Amino acid sequence: MATDCLFCKIIAGEIPSKKAAETENVLAFHDITPQAPTHVLVIHKQHTASLSDTTDEALLGQWMAGVRDVARQLNLSDYRVIVNNGPQAGQSVFHLHAHILAGRPLAWPPG
Ligand code: 5GP
Ligand code: ZN
Repeated sequence: MATDCLFCKIIAGEIPSKKAAETENVLAFHDITPQAPTHVLVIHKQHTASLSDTTDEALLGQWMAGVRDVARQLNLSDYRVIVNNGPQAGQSVFHLHAHILAGRPLAWPPG
């Protein structure tokens, strides 16, 4: 746990969140500012700051399998998975997370 990390505090229950699903390795909770009817964030329970910082391939595999499992648990068939890496790409919370967006047509390319 990184003591100054918002998402670690959510995992610890120190900051409330609306849980969407949970597996052994990941937690999924609803984004506080949803951009689609379904907008959940999927995080590994172990802190890592960003995709480009991560050298733990087992963690990456568990995390992305978790994304798939969360989508299944939410009965999603068509959905988009987004990972913002770095501030210029829109990353604002530095605990690795995937956005799952679903429930409306999603334009391509994204902004
Ligand atoms: P990023 O911009 O880093 O890719 O995504 C961070 C996401 O976390 C944003 O979509 C933002 O709305 C969401 N977020 C920020 N603070 C909170 C919070 O306290 N609770 C929840 N549920 N989501 C948050
Ligand atoms: Zn963290």
